[in-house]
Amino acid sequence: MDDRELKIESRLAQIGSINDPKTGAVNFPIYQATAFRHPRLGQSTGFDYIRTTNPTRKVLEEAAAQLESGDAGFACASGMAALQTIFSLFGQGDHLIVSLDLYGGTYRLLERILSKFGVTATYVDTNDIDALEQSRRENTKAVFIETPTNPLMMITDIERVTSWAKRHELLTIVDNTLLTPYFQRPLELGADIVIHSATKYLGGHNDVLAGLIVTKGKELSEEMAFLHNSIGAVLSPSDSYQLMKGMKTLALRMERHEYNSLKIANYLLTHPAVAEVFHPGLADHPGHDIQSKQSSGNTGIFSFKVTDARYVEPLLRHIRLIAFAESLGGVESLMTYPAVQTHADIPLEIREAVGVDDRLLRFSVGIEHADDLIQDLGQALEAARREVEEGNVE
Ligand code: PLP
Repeated sequence: MDDRELKIESRLAQIGSINDPKTGAVNFPIYQATAFRHPRLGQSTGFDYIRTTNPTRKVLEEAAAQLESGDAGFACASGMAALQTIFSLFGQGDHLIVSLDLYGGTYRLLERILSKFGVTATYVDTNDIDALEQSRRENTKAVFIETPTNPLMMITDIERVTSWAKRHELLTIVDNTLLTPYFQRPLELGADIVIHSATKYLGGHNDVLAGLIVTKGKELSEEMAFLHNSIGAVLSPSDSYQLMKGMKTLALRMERHEYNSLKIANYLLTHPAVAEVFHPGLADHPGHDIQSKQSSGNTGIFSFKVTDARYVEPLLRHIRLIAFAESLGGVESLMTYPAVQTHADIPLEIREAVGVDDRLLRFSVGIEHADDLIQDLGQALEAARREVEEGNVE
């Protein structure tokens, strides 16, 4: 049976599975080698030097390309390394149109580093075609989308944007970190490049830093291979192995993340200390219909606003099972305060314009039992309310 005929759950579980004729080993080994012997002058086994390619990394890259329905995959040292590699497609005088509610690190990379090389960006609501049209210039080269956005969970209609971009000969790049190919495959909807912070759901255990790029099309894939090797921010063989190990259980984890996050979002909707809940799985979320059309499920992160900013500090102090920590997408539940953590590099006006204010908390719901998480959140919210009422919090 051709691997492509298998369901995604089977393909995930079988990443790197082999039947090694020599040992019978079922897992692909870590080739901890930087150099590979040439059989003869002018000949190669396909592996010459680790930065260009390595057998363990290659298995991961082929799996990523196949899972995202792309032509080539590139494993990078981090999500930021993947973004830097992608943005190196552009140079002096090039302009990009970028999602307004953007991961802070991507904003920092564009504004503080890419800007030095003459690349400029305009930030818009990428679901608003008029806004896209108005920000398009003669030198615009690509549209960069996060959907859902992090942390406000804004949804962009990928197919609508890619068809607009194609009409204007622009590339579409989608950060698919939050949904993963298990729930959403942007290349099937017309995008050209997908990027992942694989540190999140793909790795899934808060223990490996990695990034993945998947490209569609021969020319673009060749150009990305050149940049990947030339820039050199590639993933090590042992981290490639670690990431593949995480990806094998992606299907199970995403189902549980989705179930837990929806249950907790519904609980928070009824809580008197909570003003708003941003979860695209809720029927009244503005992006719910588009999300349901283009994805087969929901991510495990969502955000919510408490009714009083003074609740934030004691809430983060009182959560026990849920850790106050900055990442997302792992089996353990983590809660973050975007205004001072992930989004600190985004200017206040932009942050507040999109709604990342001082009452917003982001919750990366893990795979613990939902009732235990609800209990922990409930006791922390009550403790925070009590402290504020008693005047113990500024
Ligand atoms: N893209 C998104 C949506 C992210 O959330 C992050 C990190 O939080 C990144 C990219 C950067 O990835 P990394 O931390 O793996 O470098």
